Amino acid sequence: MTNTPSIAITVLRCVVCGTLDSGPRDLCPKCFGALAPEKVSGDGTLMSWTMIRRPPAAFRAEGTYAVALVKLDAGCQITGRLANPDEQATPGKRVTATGHKDTVTIFTAE
Ligand SMILES: [Zn+2]
Repeated sequence: MTNTPSIAITVLRCVVCGTLDSGPRDLCPKCFGALAPEKVSGDGTLMSWTMIRRPPAAFRAEGTYAVALVKLDAGCQITGRLANPDEQATPGKRVTATGHKDTVTIFTAE
């Protein structure tokens, strides 16, 4: 693992059926129950990632960045940014949440 400590991240849990969802959304996608925020481990597995080389206008000043899809150990998938995209960051690689930028979680691959 990296030297950067893992941080907890906030996802949503259905108060009726217990389904976890990364949100944002108002109702459970399975039973339409209410969702409540819940902190879970930021550890997970990298599913895929891609480089955004021509960012939308809101992020243009940041330049190139990587968007990642992560399956959290807690049991739901979430999109975020990958701090260290390179040829070592292959699907199945362990990642951990190491920060936030606005509402976006930043993951670092081991
Ligand atoms: Zn539900």
